[in-house]
Amino acid sequence: MSELSINWKKLGFVYRRTKCHIRYVYRDGEWDGGRLEESETIPLHVAATALHYGQAAFEGLKAFRCRDGRVRIFRPEMNAARMVDTARRICMAPVDEPMFMEAVRRVIKANLEYVPPYGTGGALYIRPLLFGSGPQIGVTPAVEYTFIVMVMPVGSYYRGGLKPMRAVVYDEYDRSAPLGLGNVKVGGNYAAAMAPHELARREGIPSVLFLDAREHKYIDEFGTSNFIALTHDNKYVTPDSHSILPSVTNKCLQRLAKELGMTVERRPVEFEEIPQFATVAACGTAVVITPVNEITRGQTVYRIGPERGCLPILQKLYDRITAIQTGDGPDDHGWMKEV
Ligand SMILES: *Cc1c(COP(=O)(O)O)cnc(C)c1O
Repeated sequence: MSELSINWKKLGFVYRRTKCHIRYVYRDGEWDGGRLEESETIPLHVAATALHYGQAAFEGLKAFRCRDGRVRIFRPEMNAARMVDTARRICMAPVDEPMFMEAVRRVIKANLEYVPPYGTGGALYIRPLLFGSGPQIGVTPAVEYTFIVMVMPVGSYYRGGLKPMRAVVYDEYDRSAPLGLGNVKVGGNYAAAMAPHELARREGIPSVLFLDAREHKYIDEFGTSNFIALTHDNKYVTPDSHSILPSVTNKCLQRLAKELGMTVERRPVEFEEIPQFATVAACGTAVVITPVNEITRGQTVYRIGPERGCLPILQKLYDRITAIQTGDGPDDHGWMKEV
């Protein structure tokens, strides 16, 4: 552990080489036993379906070095189940939960020295990846698949309190079709959002909010995180739509919000409702919660919230979830899994 020269307090969310990843191959109708690989590159068939036709899915979750010194993973079964859904939707060989858990545990154990120490605010980010690695030139599912789990240490986004950000809606871009792939975690969804994200970045805006592709009337989600809003009458509101990726973070926050006495509403949310919300935020594994204080759409700029008013509630939700992850608070729901 001592030979690693990592400044744990200065970790961002960037790729970082660790000791190894774990790699499994599906061939002749079954998965092999998986191998730890130190190489950062993979030999890949030039006609692999992932490259040509986008048969590729990923996941993102975290493990933490807890207060008692042990390493625990946050709700990995949820990611395992979601990856099965994604695999089925794009006709890939699924990875069942026991295999997913074994892969995650093995790769963490092999990279234990990369789990940021307790108290640094960092975590080990876990990135499972499943893709068609076998050749096809006609458009049919591959016969061979590769499942990789890689890990890297990442920092906590916040030092001090939650920092609000701006967001933008571009009516000339959609992220996913109404009955398309928006509810599964395929790489192509991120490709679809890259051009609007680049546009926003050039305007200095870190986040893009996507509306329902059919009417542009309802809110779907941000490019890489779910949309949540808090109302002045103590409600937690989040959109219900086929085109939203079911976020683990959002589900956890809904549960914690209920425990704080809030009413949780999961329903179609019209963009028109934005001015009525007390607070709007984005949520996902990487950052947990980011308040949004301004949304631009065309010539209109919507400023949200008396800001201070509801920020303490968001902060409380954030503190509760991070306390569970670090072991600073009780894990009443059994969300943390031993490595
Ligand atoms: C992964 C992802 C999220 C966040 O999900 P979490 O399980 O909370 O990390 C939200 N939206 C999209 C589009 C995603 O791909």
